Amino acid sequence: MLLIPCPHCGPRAQTEFSYGGDANVARPPAPEDADGGTWVDYLYLRDNAKGGHDELWQHIFGCRRWLRVGRDVVSHEITSCTELAESGA
Ligand SMILES: [Zn+2]
Repeated sequence: MLLIPCPHCGPRAQTEFSYGGDANVARPPAPEDADGGTWVDYLYLRDNAKGGHDELWQHIFGCRRWLRVGRDVVSHEITSCTELAESGA
């Protein structure tokens, strides 16, 4: 189980959070002009790279804030955790 260091509540068990997906996926800049392939890429395709990864997590059983969590997907080491509004994303 992961121990996620929420900046507002302190370290909490992963079971208090809901996973929100890859934090680096960018919405198409002009959605009305995007073709079907662009939407498929945005909605469904992920790199699933080994190593460091930025993820979105919501502390649903705590402060309910969205967090940007840096995590190594191999070792599960958490390298950063910031509130989404503070991370600039
Ligand atoms: Zn929290």
